[in-house]
Amino acid sequence: MKVNQYLENANNQTLISFEVLPPLKGGSMQAIFETLDMLMEFKPPFIDVTYHREDFVYKKMPSGYFEKTAIRKRPGTVGICAAIMHRYGVDAVPHLICGGFSKEETENALIDLNFLNINNVLALRGDARTFDGKFVPEPDGHEFALDLVKQIADMNQGKYLDEDIAQGEKTDFCIGIAGYPEKHFESPNLQIDLDYTKEKVDAGADYIVTQMFFDNKHYFSYVDACRKAGINVPIVPGLKPLTKAYQLNSIPRHFHIDIPEELAKELAKATTAKARQQAGVEWCIMQSKELKAKGAPCLHYYTMGDADTIRQVAESVF
Ligand code: FAD
Repeated sequence: MKVNQYLENANNQTLISFEVLPPLKGGSMQAIFETLDMLMEFKPPFIDVTYHREDFVYKKMPSGYFEKTAIRKRPGTVGICAAIMHRYGVDAVPHLICGGFSKEETENALIDLNFLNINNVLALRGDARTFDGKFVPEPDGHEFALDLVKQIADMNQGKYLDEDIAQGEKTDFCIGIAGYPEKHFESPNLQIDLDYTKEKVDAGADYIVTQMFFDNKHYFSYVDACRKAGINVPIVPGLKPLTKAYQLNSIPRHFHIDIPEELAKELAKATTAKARQQAGVEWCIMQSKELKAKGAPCLHYYTMGDADTIRQVAESVF
């Protein structure tokens, strides 16, 4: 089933969903199964699997020179989706990005997903490669997630890139997109960011999943701003317990979001790793309970290899 159907059929009950990362190349599927085995009892109707573009690494050669090599450190998104659907009988949502894909490769990836009966995708631009500094699309790839959404919507109408295909098979993808309650970091302001988000919805996006946030007021005011801008699709909040001291800096650096003063103080006060974990879990429980009480359609937890804390949150909230 499609994510938008789960959300529509939920009768105002808040659903739960999880997001997992493919293991680093050379790792095994077992880590994903161990994470999900701990979380399936909460009955998520769908599970997201992230997609990771190739990045450049510099390897020192015997001559002393450095060689620049492109490596995809976390391949396997589509295979993991198929394995999740097979093992747990729940729907998987692969993330599909513009970065690293020509339009033709995107089309072929969508055909693979369609043949695997995977009818959900989260359509994203993707992040910049580390050494590029800014996002660089493939020569014949998409620059913005909007163009990817349009390509998927076209395939849902049976329209393929090759104009000789007069009427191809219509795919039936439910299309999710990303939303940023604290604005996307490259955007000049929230309103401009919302204008582009509205374009994606008008082009066919069915729902939004937000970047993580640690202060619910960002989510509530984002939902209000979306509704005022005429964006009426479900907006699923993305959540993660902040449980380690280094995350006080790494999360703002990577995700361009603020950590509320009170949470930062709670973590600073805690003197052991266990106490910090507890403080972060309690904060996430508090956030989750309020979002649920105020009718968020689904709480989407970024597991990021930390199933134990997500489980503690889910046990208290669902
Ligand atoms: P876009 O919608 O293309 O927006 C990017 C920027 O361009 C924004 O500033 C926007 O305001 C602006 N913009 C949009 N359209 C236009 C336009 N037509 N003209 C001019 N400017 C425009 N990254 C991964 O690599 N893999 C993942 O699996 C992944 N999963 C994610 C899941 C979620 C829920 C979220 C929130 C993010 C995820 N990301 C992932 C990160 C995401 O790819 C980055 O945040 C990326 O920088 C932006 O992606 P986007 O889809 O929002 O891009």
